[in-house]
Amino acid sequence: MTAKIINGREIAKDIRSEIANEVKALTSKYDTTPTITTIKIGNNPESELYLKLRDNACNEVGIISDHINLPVNVSEQEVLQTIEQLNKDKNTHGILIQYPIPDHISTDVLMRSVDPKKDVEGFNPYNMGNVLIGNESIIPCTPLAVLTILEHEKVDLKGKDVAIVNHSTVVGKPLTALFLNRNATVSVCHVFTKDIKPYTSKADILVTATGIPQIITVDHVKKNAFVIDVGIVSTKDGICGDVDMDSVKEKAGKVTPVPGGVGPVTVACSLKNMLKTYKNCVK
Ligand code: NAP
Repeated sequence: MTAKIINGREIAKDIRSEIANEVKALTSKYDTTPTITTIKIGNNPESELYLKLRDNACNEVGIISDHINLPVNVSEQEVLQTIEQLNKDKNTHGILIQYPIPDHISTDVLMRSVDPKKDVEGFNPYNMGNVLIGNESIIPCTPLAVLTILEHEKVDLKGKDVAIVNHSTVVGKPLTALFLNRNATVSVCHVFTKDIKPYTSKADILVTATGIPQIITVDHVKKNAFVIDVGIVSTKDGICGDVDMDSVKEKAGKVTPVPGGVGPVTVACSLKNMLKTYKNCVK
């Protein structure tokens, strides 16, 4: 039996349809259309692609997606002033900063400066801290996409063994807290992990997000495991993830593909968060 390949595009379509209905109802109730502003610094081709996908998704559900484009050499102070203006602007219901940003600007400083109630990405330490203490409000979009996929597949996380290969602020750390909040047992692997296999091969759920093509092979996977591939890499053969799909699908129970897995669900989860920040502003 080969693994079920999860169709992230279908899951995302269902989420967009639910959000479109809610946006319609709230827009007429509050007489204000949800308006989200993205701050983009410089020109990163991968960011452009992601922005285009998000703009299309916003358009489909009735959310206005504005952009502020700043030059690559903009000072950190100028970016902070822009964020402060958006924090105060009552017609802006959500703020996104398009990462990566240039090295002379601190990601940490920008994440802290977005008003927590307008923080679509959930990166402000206030929102991250709430995730950590189990008082989840705005959850970072990619970890939320992983949870959404597991919920869609009706996976009960209580008591499950989970391995996460990533410990970044945007993926692995919040995801660890989210799994712990649901009473799973979590192992977190990273570049200094001596050998990831003892952890990944025992996991009922394996989430990988290294950005290294085919780092996860059949030997890393437990029989019937749910393998969630967050990695996105652009290669000469096109976009791929971390998982060697050909071998892993012969052993795993379920696998998310790349493209068409976590990516589209992440964009849809970004819309979910926009709706939350809109409600924070209008209610
Ligand atoms: P990142 O900060 O570079 O994280 C990569 C993680 O993988 C780090 O924790 C790193 O450990 C770990 N790692 C790298 N090589 C490893 C190895 N050989 N063994 C074990 N761990 C290893 O990047 P990110 O922003 O979290 O993104 C990770 C990947 O997910 C990228 O491919 C990105 O494009 C993708 N992504 C996808 C989505 C989506 O919606 N599908 C969203 C966000 C990101 P160290 O920290 O110790 O170096």
